[in-house]
Amino acid sequence: MNVPFLDLKKINKAYELGLQEKLKSVIDSGWFIMGSQLLEFEKNYATFNTTNYCVGVGNGLDALILSLKVLGIGEGDEVIVPSNTYIASWLAVSYVGAKVIPVEPKLETYNINPSLIEEKITSKTKAIMPVNLYGQACELDKIMGIADKYNLFVVEDNAQAQGAYCKGKLTGSFGHINGTSFYPGKNMGALGDAGAITTNHEELAKQVKTLRNYGSQEKYYNEVKGFNSRLDELQAAFLDLKLKNLQAENNQRIAIANNYMQQLKNVGDIILPALAENCSSNYHLFVIRTEKRNELQKFLHEKGVGTVIHYPVPPHKQKAYADLNFNASDFPIANLIADTCLSLPIFPGMENEQIDYVCNTIKSYYA
Ligand SMILES: *Cc1c(COP(=O)(O)O)cnc(C)c1O
Repeated sequence: MNVPFLDLKKINKAYELGLQEKLKSVIDSGWFIMGSQLLEFEKNYATFNTTNYCVGVGNGLDALILSLKVLGIGEGDEVIVPSNTYIASWLAVSYVGAKVIPVEPKLETYNINPSLIEEKITSKTKAIMPVNLYGQACELDKIMGIADKYNLFVVEDNAQAQGAYCKGKLTGSFGHINGTSFYPGKNMGALGDAGAITTNHEELAKQVKTLRNYGSQEKYYNEVKGFNSRLDELQAAFLDLKLKNLQAENNQRIAIANNYMQQLKNVGDIILPALAENCSSNYHLFVIRTEKRNELQKFLHEKGVGTVIHYPVPPHKQKAYADLNFNASDFPIANLIADTCLSLPIFPGMENEQIDYVCNTIKSYYA
């Protein structure tokens, strides 16, 4: 049997007719950038995320960069980031000229450890950027408490966790302003690049709207040196269609994750992902750990099961960050996760036989 890591063809097949209708309506409208499709999607995503505002932008990285920009974060400022994350979180901080201050995760949840944040706060610290990694909400209530105590901003990197909860409240609704991504492989994927910010603050939303469009609110009048980072009409129309099914698709992923949890309990040296108290996951990824990671991945590949390593090299070890002079052995928990993690196939529409095949193949490896 063949089990792909992620079956994007299958996911999008379910929307084929609807997507074609959206395509036709955008072509017929003759309007492709900054129009009614975007406004409609922004309104609906804000409602979904229980925030007052959503502003569509070109991609998830830009959502984070523009969020930091409108908070006035830049040169000379420090931003606390997780040591275990996709490099985009760090890059956003670097692009605005601020310094990344990494904090280690809890090994069990893979997410930033709130109890290690305070010791990293200095007079230069301006913000905390928790990343709801692999789809699991960070302990955002605790992180907001720390931010309040030290008067810091919080910018959630919610690229992976749309629809996950901490203490009954949605990710992407905790921080002062938050970024998300609709990259095709995310839980709600566009058919290209797309992203958005969410916030309850009118002024921040307004500033992102200006910044994403050349620093202009009125055409050809530019208030600030802005960017070109707009979410186009076609992607907005596609996303608006998919938004209606986002939580149902997340629930499918959760059911698959629970199935894995049952079947892979006490198998070999496998360590299953754990949820922090009061935190949920949309299971963007199902990440296990094992000392035999490389061998197990090779074995699964030979048996037709696709897996991915998220991520093989943590940001502090990337060549791109050589300038910060971290030691490779800094951040041992991030390093341990990078050396032992393996993401198993998970996607809406994954068949029970496929889940069973993955589990039985893993069991046969350890047998
Ligand atoms: C995908 C992702 C991003 C960036 O999103 P893009 O749309 O690819 O720019 C940022 N942070 C995390 C954690 C991501 O997974």
